[in-house]
Amino acid sequence: MLRKTKIVATVGPSIRTPDRIRELIRLGVNVFRLNMSHGDHKTHDENVKMIREAEAELKMPVAIMIDLSGPKIRVGEIADDRMEIHEGDIVTLTVENVVGKDGVIPISYKFLPEDVEPGDRILLADGSIELVVEKVEGKLIRCRARNSGVISSHKGVNVPSKPLSIPSLTEKDKLDVRFAVEHDVDWLALSFVRKPEDVRELKSLLEAFNSDIRVISKIEKAEAVRNIDAILRETDGVMVARGDLGVEIDLERVPIVQKMVLRKALKLGKPSIVATQMLLSMVESPRPTRAEVNDVANAVFEHADAVMLSEETAVGKYPMEVIKTMDRILRCAESEYYRAHNGLAIERPTNATVADAISHAACIMAADLKASCIVTPTHSGFTARMVSRFRPFQPIVALSPKKKVVRQLCLTHNVFPEEICEMESTDRMFSRASEILAECGYVKPGDTVIITAGVPLNMPGTTNLLKVHRVV
Ligand code: PEP
Repeated sequence: MLRKTKIVATVGPSIRTPDRIRELIRLGVNVFRLNMSHGDHKTHDENVKMIREAEAELKMPVAIMIDLSGPKIRVGEIADDRMEIHEGDIVTLTVENVVGKDGVIPISYKFLPEDVEPGDRILLADGSIELVVEKVEGKLIRCRARNSGVISSHKGVNVPSKPLSIPSLTEKDKLDVRFAVEHDVDWLALSFVRKPEDVRELKSLLEAFNSDIRVISKIEKAEAVRNIDAILRETDGVMVARGDLGVEIDLERVPIVQKMVLRKALKLGKPSIVATQMLLSMVESPRPTRAEVNDVANAVFEHADAVMLSEETAVGKYPMEVIKTMDRILRCAESEYYRAHNGLAIERPTNATVADAISHAACIMAADLKASCIVTPTHSGFTARMVSRFRPFQPIVALSPKKKVVRQLCLTHNVFPEEICEMESTDRMFSRASEILAECGYVKPGDTVIITAGVPLNMPGTTNLLKVHRVV
């Protein structure tokens, strides 16, 4: 059985060679993530070239996702890269450009003193040190430490549950967007999304570049959780970014938010990614923990489109084993899911559109006729995503004349995209679809296939036909 859940792997020193990138694609990586919080443009330029060369050589489409750093507040330089903080200490945060020492810590966001007030919590280094604001004095924020710990340079600073006036796209992000456009990547992940306007701002910038890159909104702020419906309407996909989310909201609420976000994204047919610490122990060990295996399997049961690896592939000791392990867990969970459920994952929407009715009917017919696959010719990827959201058992073979769409669909659950040239008639489309299915090994003679189509041909948004096709 083909694996349905997609794998996103973060590129870093552990996999930055052409051989390793090729091997990872063969092992099943569908999307490579370039994290703009690490590495310069020269390094990422090499990464893009390496991935594109491997993709062309293997003739297997893969997507590239650039993850923008976003407005992350960071600690500045700390003397000797180490400062001990003890419970009860008075710690002073400053927006002055100084080297931190003797309980004074520089931070990168210069308006923080205006945004906080006594009683607010400020978390340092992924929440490992909690400070409570006692007094704001000009550019200084006097805080009391709630626990002991050690802080080093450039660690993250979170101010949970407090709307900050920091802009959603920093100057660095704008340069990184230009880099993404120039390198023709497929997806941009926007960090620290708070409201739908943040997504619109990035989309306007992409429009100004005349770019068709699609946007993943990273859900990692309490404000984003509150605005989830409006954000989902604007965005092309979502990531449950559990690293920062677990600092910004109470840790015990992360599984609840994950479930809620995945469910809402599924209903809209927008791809969802579960990210962070999925197989973290494999950074150091060749075997995952039992809890990690459970976490990956649960992402399948909760209908994630994709699961993401960060340190595991970027700096871990066992990047190949991580992908093999992920692949095995996903396949096992998927086969159990389809053994236990024989219906569709969501109901056909009420007040169905033509796209809703056709995509739903394609899945029902595929199940009734025990078809071997569903074929969706698609210009924008929309029809394939509409079919995928019902989570049919049959693989969805998406045929598109646009390379960018083929790559973007690498993120969508159970969609196997193939590039085709524009067709001049539906008959020609059906016969080309049959050739591709046979060439790529999706079918054998005697199989039944469900094909969606749109008339008039080559016009986006016209899917209005269903054909039952018998392979000869
Ligand atoms: C996260 O916070 O979970 C995440 C994926 O973002 P980043 O790796 O950029 O911190």
